[in-house]
Amino acid sequence: MVLCACGLQCVVRTSWTNRNPGRRFYSCPLIGWVDPLMCDRSLDIIPGLLRNRDALEDALALEQERADWEEHRANEEDTRANQAELRANMEERADWEEHRANEEDTRANQAELRANMEV
Ligand SMILES: [Zn+2]
Repeated sequence: MVLCACGLQCVVRTSWTNRNPGRRFYSCPLIGWVDPLMCDRSLDIIPGLLRNRDALEDALALEQERADWEEHRANEEDTRANQAELRANMEERADWEEHRANEEDTRANQAELRANMEV
């Protein structure tokens, strides 16, 4: 930081306009620019580079969004597969419970039959 004649501490900022792309300046206009005037070649090239960088960042963000979506979809498929497995297990368990109940009925019937034969 620099102490300006106006008495304020001035920070250095960077301009990103097409006329002064990347040229640094002090936050107080009394002091002005940190960097000298930019040459024509820089003014020609830098805005294009900045646009390309922005386009790449946009493409990257889109790709990230797509990857996130794919992951989300894969998670949903996993969840569906787990639910199907859970349902199958529950059905198997219900069948087994029914089988056990039938066995108990059979045993009870056999006991009743034996009791009736003893009478
Ligand atoms: Zn000032």
